Amino acid sequence: MNPTTLISPDRARQVLQIFQSRQTIIEEFIKRLVELESPSGDMEGSRAVVDLLVETTGELTYVNSIERVDVADFGQHLVIEAFHGSDQSDQVLLVGHTDTVHSRGSLSQMPWRREGNKLFGPGTFDMKANCAMAIAVLHALETVGATPNCGVTIVLTCDEEVGSMKGWPLIENVAKRRNTRCALVMEPPAPGGRVKTGRKGTGIFSIKVEGKAAHAGLEPEKGASAILELARQTERLESVNQSGSGITLNVGVVKGGTRSNVVAAEAEGEIDVRFSTESEAQQLDQMFRNLKPIDDRVKVFVSGGINRPPMERTPAVIELFEKARAVAAMIDFELGEAQVGGASDGNFIAALGIPVLDGLGISGDGAHATHEHILADDIAVRGTLLAGLILSV
Ligand SMILES: [Zn+2]
Repeated sequence: MNPTTLISPDRARQVLQIFQSRQTIIEEFIKRLVELESPSGDMEGSRAVVDLLVETTGELTYVNSIERVDVADFGQHLVIEAFHGSDQSDQVLLVGHTDTVHSRGSLSQMPWRREGNKLFGPGTFDMKANCAMAIAVLHALETVGATPNCGVTIVLTCDEEVGSMKGWPLIENVAKRRNTRCALVMEPPAPGGRVKTGRKGTGIFSIKVEGKAAHAGLEPEKGASAILELARQTERLESVNQSGSGITLNVGVVKGGTRSNVVAAEAEGEIDVRFSTESEAQQLDQMFRNLKPIDDRVKVFVSGGINRPPMERTPAVIELFEKARAVAAMIDFELGEAQVGGASDGNFIAALGIPVLDGLGISGDGAHATHEHILADDIAVRGTLLAGLILSV
């Protein structure tokens, strides 16, 4: 066992029991958060959610500071520091968000409700329940009298669902305030409750082709079709999908031409790319930069680029995952892992060289959909996992 770890099977079971004994209280808290609708960009909703989180956090003893950060046109981010002793220079980051994708009024179509073990409501799974869980974890640590080896900093942003334009600089800033040992991202898990040890990086490119118009019937030989060029380029680009690497490329949008009897002078394509490693990102970037016309009578212009780095499954990430697995085993569940194509704030944090474990949220299904729900009996399990991890790092 790691000599610095503060978690033992006895303590893990103790934490699990605390969560189980508080099940009704935590569910009620989640319900209140869900019923405060907070789609990204809803200032009033964002503030109301932050108000409620602050109110609940204020009851805790080991909270050092609560910081509300105003975000124009969005609402508020929230940063909570706990267990930061005066000589403490290290921290573990818990990362989540308070915004949802469900527009205001969705609650009337998909109200908070329970069906057996499932708790439904807009943003329950992604990720209001996990905001509640983060606070409940602080409470559980206090109750068992366990002081983590390093400070715990919770960052909940309000614009994650629309790309974290404001949230990302805040996370980076908070991560750099102290020595951040690791970041635990509370996004929903992969099916089967698996945590995410790798996320692909993403990029968006567009290609603009300038051809030469001509009458398609009278003198087609005088034209150079931008559409034909784009079609050929599409086939050539998409062949990278057969390379057996971590790269996926999708020409998802094409536009071009004016009339069926005119050789097309213009065409455009939009391309989504994903990749598993930094070197694959460079390979893609090179490929687009070096793109040459196949028909030398046309011109090809490329714009766009890589926008999120990959979250790679590094040895430090594997070590973190092993710690999580050990905690899970203490309460008799086998934790799996997954590498996924979608990006999250975890990608940016990983780019800072900080080990990231993602997908630590409560199990459920239907993120962004009307059947969005969590599994009630997983709240205690994931809460214990998170608390145990904080005590292991
Ligand atoms: Zn999310």
